[in-house]
Amino acid sequence: MRILLVEDDELLGEGTRKGLTQDGYTVDWVKDGTLADQALKTEKFDLVVLDLGLPKLPGITVLQNMRERGDTTPVLILTARESIEDRVLGLDSGADDYLTKPFDLHELLARLRALQRRFAGARAAPILVHGEISLDPASHVVLYKNEPINLSRREFALLHVLLENAGRVLSREHLTQSLYGWGEEVDSNALEVHVHNLRKRFGQDFIRTVRGIGYTIEKSKDQK
Ligand code: CA
Repeated sequence: MRILLVEDDELLGEGTRKGLTQDGYTVDWVKDGTLADQALKTEKFDLVVLDLGLPKLPGITVLQNMRERGDTTPVLILTARESIEDRVLGLDSGADDYLTKPFDLHELLARLRALQRRFAGARAAPILVHGEISLDPASHVVLYKNEPINLSRREFALLHVLLENAGRVLSREHLTQSLYGWGEEVDSNALEVHVHNLRKRFGQDFIRTVRGIGYTIEKSKDQK
């Protein structure tokens, strides 16, 4: 799950980024409205946590721009406690939920899970099946030969993106980007390590290396 966090307050932003990362999200954090607007135009996120009081471009404009483009990514807005008008305007502009500051991290995580469930339902058939592997993006459960297995969050994210794109070759850059947020330190062989671990679980042939480009998994027989 990739989240765009838009928050100009350093302390609050850092605390939120940490909490979300520890909970297994891949977090991209930007600190002004213009950068948020640009990021949303060029990248795909699963969720957006959007502060409304932002430098350069107000959060409400970022939200309105998204909805005008037809971008339906779930958005949770952060507002000041005293500002009822902000909350109303935010919800009227297409926000899916809101929290007032200061908020409890556990409440934020619970709200985001609720948003994910709502949207997973709306998207329908979110469970990915590939041979004897099944992955449920909403519950983060992976079954192999009908047994639940534990993957690290990066392994889960890698498996998820590979299954979603079975039959297509994914570049190393694309894969690395879907596993790590911007500005995160990434070891040059980090991707290889995750690929290696997944092969250990599911067999050497499960992920095929496409030399000079990246990786692919074969289209499953159950997939069209
Ligand atoms: Ca702010």
